[in-house]
Amino acid sequence: MTTPFGRLSDDDLATCVHCGLCLDACPTFRVTGLETESPRGRIYLMTQWKRGTMAFDEEQVEHIDLCLGCRTCEGVCPSGVPYGRIIEAGRADVEDLRRASLKRGTSRLALRQLVGHPGRLRAAGAATRLAQKLGLTSIARSGRMLPRLREEFRRPAGDVAPAIGAQKHRVAFLVGCVMPILYPQSHDAAIRLLQLAGCEVWFPPAERCCGALFAHNGDLAGASALRKANMKTYRAGDFEALVVDSAGCGAHLKDFYPELKGRVKDLTEWLAEIGLPSPARDMKLRVTYQDACHLAHAQRIKKQPRDLIRSMPGVDWVEMRHADICCGAAGLYSTLEPDMSSRILQEKLDDLLATNADVVAVANPGCQMQLESGLRARGSRMKVEHVSELLARAY
Ligand code: SF4
Ligand code: SF4
Repeated sequence: MTTPFGRLSDDDLATCVHCGLCLDACPTFRVTGLETESPRGRIYLMTQWKRGTMAFDEEQVEHIDLCLGCRTCEGVCPSGVPYGRIIEAGRADVEDLRRASLKRGTSRLALRQLVGHPGRLRAAGAATRLAQKLGLTSIARSGRMLPRLREEFRRPAGDVAPAIGAQKHRVAFLVGCVMPILYPQSHDAAIRLLQLAGCEVWFPPAERCCGALFAHNGDLAGASALRKANMKTYRAGDFEALVVDSAGCGAHLKDFYPELKGRVKDLTEWLAEIGLPSPARDMKLRVTYQDACHLAHAQRIKKQPRDLIRSMPGVDWVEMRHADICCGAAGLYSTLEPDMSSRILQEKLDDLLATNADVVAVANPGCQMQLESGLRARGSRMKVEHVSELLARAY
């Protein structure tokens, strides 16, 4: 039998000096004002459980469940608390001890039986497209949040897209699990930008979900099985960088795939490094940007997407208040914790609408879906676009 809270590290927990400087950056503390819904409160709770000074209590698990895993606290913590590692280990430990529940059981089953299998996920995507045509997805909240699904993303013949013009680089591209079904247009635009920047783009053939959604939900064993399978296919390829256009996946690959160290690049990070050709078109758009938590806080990438967007001709840039605070999407969070997710979203929508932007650019499919559904509900015409789509408009 495994030791209770055996994955949580004493050393990691001990880095918190309880200063409270992270509190106002934490979305769940901001909307509740409760210490128990703050990073400091959660670290305290997990420390007591780990030391055995507080008995594990099913009621208290809610404070762990309500954490978005956004890692905003990690970005502002002066003590260098590795909060992402703490919450992922804590969640995995909690999963061993808590009572089974329909909600958690269903999400784990969906991850293991659906998200981890590209063929099944494609079939689910086709069924959802049909359900949308018949108007059936409007019945449930999660169905109403979905974007209008297009034809799913298709890899090019031979799993390679050639560079446009002289080839300067060879990169691999993460197709991922839900993104090719929810937002194939973001992938299409990202690949076009890479080609324009002189990259030959390779699509690893047997690649599956990177495991990020699994790890965020406390299923570290599921995440590890996917990592092993994916590493086999990555080892067979020859590439300078594995380019990722979904912030949550990029952060997970950087943290959990040590063999790829230094080669995992967010799309904006890579394009800022290698440069894009001169844009051909004037955009004439007022644009703002919502930081994806796993890009801004986990990968510490804030400047590159902003610089790329601002370099496009005709962009009227407007910085949003609290742009680096979570929108409440956080992977499966908006489905598992809809009330808190919606409370967090309302502050985000107020800040977003105050910008008067035509377009808000994002770097993660979860943020895109959350903002689109929130803006729709408020009757706004503001468009939500992946950074790749926005940049591709200029070419
Ligand atoms: S997590 Fe960091 S910022 Fe927050 S209370 Fe602990 S030491 Fe202070
Ligand atoms: S990860 Fe996000 S929601 Fe969780 S404690 Fe940190 S700031 Fe708060």
